Amino acid sequence: MPINLETPKKFAGLVSQAHMVATEVFRPNSRKYDDAEHSYPKELDMLAAAIDGMNESGALGGAGAGGVGGNGNDNSNGASAKQADPNANRNGSNMASLLGLTELCWGDVGLLLTMPRQGLGQAAIAAVADEEQLKRFGGKWAAMAITEPEAGSDSAAIRTTARLDGDDYVLNGEKIFVTSGDRAELIVVWATLDREQGRAAIKSFVVERDNPGLKLDRLEHKLGIRASDTANFRLEDCRVPKESLLGSPDIEPKRGFAGVMQTFDNTRPLVAGMAIGVARACLERTRELLEEAGIEIDYDAPPHSQSAAASEFIAMESDWEAARLLTLQAAWMADNRKPNSLQASMAKAKAGRTGTDVALRCVALCGSLGYGEGELLEKWARDAKILDLFEGTQQIQLLIVARALLGKTSAELK
Ligand SMILES: Cc1cc2nc3c(=O)[nH]c(=O)nc-3n(C[C@H](O)[C@H](O)[C@H](O)COP(=O)(O)OP(=O)(O)OC[C@H]3O[C@@H](n4cnc5c(N)ncnc54)[C@H](O)[C@@H]3O)c2cc1C
Repeated sequence: MPINLETPKKFAGLVSQAHMVATEVFRPNSRKYDDAEHSYPKELDMLAAAIDGMNESGALGGAGAGGVGGNGNDNSNGASAKQADPNANRNGSNMASLLGLTELCWGDVGLLLTMPRQGLGQAAIAAVADEEQLKRFGGKWAAMAITEPEAGSDSAAIRTTARLDGDDYVLNGEKIFVTSGDRAELIVVWATLDREQGRAAIKSFVVERDNPGLKLDRLEHKLGIRASDTANFRLEDCRVPKESLLGSPDIEPKRGFAGVMQTFDNTRPLVAGMAIGVARACLERTRELLEEAGIEIDYDAPPHSQSAAASEFIAMESDWEAARLLTLQAAWMADNRKPNSLQASMAKAKAGRTGTDVALRCVALCGSLGYGEGELLEKWARDAKILDLFEGTQQIQLLIVARALLGKTSAELK
């Protein structure tokens, strides 16, 4: 079925609201919270209240990471889809989130990442939580804690343990680089029930941020996205009720990592969308600066007959468009219940690389204006880099794509 590339009509309002927030709230505060790293952007509180109101009224159509449905769990228009033509095209919460986040990241990636209740942990909850857990945890600000000092790209190597003791699990270990770890209300922690049993024993647990067993070590100082807090924790005999385990408590060797990994099929297109948003900001501002400098971009003229700057700009735009299309495809597939692991990784790889590349080339094209703090271009170039790192680095996405295309397992192709 062909994909219609127009923004779905039902999301037009959402996109224009996100654009207004990006213009009126994010951009004016961009520089302030880049300079004031670790101070909470209080301007976002008012915004969060407005977003809650819009969510309750359904005006946002499930936008934001918190609204992302698990594959097959998308209820935003699923009710009618069940009885309707199975070939009918669906645009649900994955597409809504993608379009909203892209627009907000045109404003500011760091501020988006620290928006109350938009944490990627909610995507994990939405993907695997049961009814009762959805009620308990839904709508709360949830961070995601996978990475450890000895386990980054290789998340199967995590050492944090979870031991059942009466009605509680007791968690012990260390988690680093947790986005919104200090500000979120909940932290979704990956831990193993039994290290001997490998990937299948890794489960996710929801830990309340004020749990006394969760001890904040420090906040990171970073290259970009400085408005967003990045926290390192120790879990010391951290007790959580056993109902806080997401998904099945059974260790099913055949299922392996499938449960926890499923989240990434939904979140990788979103991170790709963030890269598309910040890259579009760079392109738009660069176009304005080129035009002010008298450089005309002529889409009808062949590259060799216009200035080098104009032809480089057009090449960047086409690269950006390719990344955008891959990303729309991955989100659309999630909404239409088609397995999208391959497309999610393709989108993340292409958009992550394009975001960083476009941002740096725009800095270069604009020369000293691009590099100075008088413009946001230098900040966007710093902010873009993380989108090619977290939720799986560039190299890891390419590895996943290669495995899928060659039909190799993770043991066969490392
Ligand atoms: C600002 C920020 C926020 C973050 N937020 C979160 C968060 O909210 N939650 C969370 O859990 N984590 C988070 N992370 C962690 C992030 O996901 C990891 O940094 C990332 O997965 C890479 O892991 P690593 O840093 O240990 O690098 P490593 O895994 O040690 O990798 C180092 C380099 O080797 C490459 N590499 C590794 N394995 C292979 C391979 N098999 N083949 C080819 N190349 C390979 C990598 O691509 C990378 O270039 C965050 C990180 C940062 C910087």
